[in-house]
This record gives sequence, structure tokens and C-alpha cells, in this order.
Amino acid sequence: MLTLTGATVRFGARAVLDAVDLEVADHEIVCVLGPSGSGKSTLLRAVAGLQALDGGRVLLDGADQTGVPVHRRGVGLMFQDHQLFPQRDVAGNVAFGLRMHGVGTAERGARVEELLDLVGLPGAGRRAVSSLSGGEQQRVALARALAPRPRLLMLDEPLGQLDRGLRERLVTELRRLFRQLGTTVLAVTHDQGEAFALADRVVVMNDGRIAQSGTPLDVWRSPASAFVARFLGFDN
Ligand code: ATP
Ligand code: MG
Repeated sequence: MLTLTGATVRFGARAVLDAVDLEVADHEIVCVLGPSGSGKSTLLRAVAGLQALDGGRVLLDGADQTGVPVHRRGVGLMFQDHQLFPQRDVAGNVAFGLRMHGVGTAERGARVEELLDLVGLPGAGRRAVSSLSGGEQQRVALARALAPRPRLLMLDEPLGQLDRGLRERLVTELRRLFRQLGTTVLAVTHDQGEAFALADRVVVMNDGRIAQSGTPLDVWRSPASAFVARFLGFDN
């Protein structure tokens, strides 16, 4: 599905992404972990086409994405501050972008209903965004990101602003949802528990590079370096 080869992004002299190689298979759920500033968001932005590479390549289904604009990559991106449109209702938010993707009016309505069911907000289409709780707003943002049926869904701290209890419930629901839809997911999180509950594979980043990639159990049991061990909270 997704291949990065030698992906490099520099700001001044510093390589924020430093020759990153990464593969994400069809239907795989990959979580990217790492300290603040390690390049997680830059990685997602580079795959989405919001950040140009200074070196290396991004391939989607084998096709080089160099020069391909954001809306032609077939990827969905959900930011941490989910940026819903406050002046549109829930349905208006979820349907946003579907017209651009060539989905006709009748189908837009059906798809919005279906997605609101999926994210656990059936019948909420006419509600004002401002009347929703934080967790409900995150679900709407998720429905919006899923609406165009992206081949790859990228989430940057999707549950970032929620309390722990709600995150734990939602993360289980999300995994079920992605499995049901067969969605390929690349998600960034600060929260190990979240990554380990959501992911088939976790990727730990450090200073623009991949420090380790493996199943949650492998990474947890056998950290590849002192950095990874420290990051996971093992003191020595
Ligand atoms: P966080 O967990 O805090 O969200 P992150 O891993 O997502 O961190 P990035 O946002 O990818 O980190 O940023 C990586 C580094 O690149 C940071 O040091 C950041 O300051 C720097 N950076 C990002 N965008 C720019 C930019 N446009 N100009 C200069 N430096 C930038
Ligand atoms: Mg970030």
C-alpha cells in the first residue's frame, strides 16, 4: 500500500525526517510512537503531500507520488485539532469533500448516514457541531476522514484531547471499525497504551529516524536499543 524509501525532510541543516524507509501493507494498522519533535507529524504530512521531500520517495500502491497533489493521493488525514467547520452541522462536516470526490447528492446523504452509524452517532446529522462533546466531535472528524473511502487513513493523535477512559473505549471501537472496513491506517500517538491496543505494528521514531518497528509485543518484550527501552519507560 505505502512505501517510503529514503524519505528525507530538512529544515535548515537539520533532517527532521532522515532517510526513512517504511512499508505499510494493505489493511495493516500501524502506529507511530516517539518523543515530541521526533518527526511523526512530518512523516504523515509527507505521505499526504502537505510536506515536500528533500530526498527519497513516497509510493502508494507502487506509484511514485512526487508532484501528485494532496487531493489526488487518495489518502485521508485527520489532525489532532480536528478542525471541524463550526458553521456546518454534523452531516455538512462529514459530507465535506465528497462533492469534490465526485459523489452525487443522493449518495452523499446515504454515505453520511452510514458513517454516522459506524462511528456511533446515528441520527446526529442535523446537530450543531458546537452541541457535541469532545469525544463526539472526534468521531465526526473520523467520519469525515473516512467519507471519501481513502485507501490509506492517517490519524495524527486522533484521540489526543480526550480523557483516558474515553480513549480506552474509543480505541477498541476504532480497531473494530478499521477491521470491518478493511482500512489501512497510519496513526500517530504519544500514548503507548493506545498504540498497543490499536496497532498490528508499532514504529518508534527518534530524531527523524525509525528506532524500531515490530509488533507491539515484540517491541515491548525486546526493545531494540537503550533509547526504545527508555522511551517505553524501562529504567535500565
Ligand atoms: P509532537 O509529538 O510534538 O507532535 P512530532 O514528532 O510530530 O512532535 P514534528 O511536528 O514532525 O514532530 O516536527 C519535527 C521537528 O521538525 C520539530 O523539531 C519541529 O520543530 C520541526 N519542524 C516541523 N515543521 C517545521 C517547519 N515548517 N520549519 C522548521 N521546523 C519545523
Ligand atoms: Mg506531531
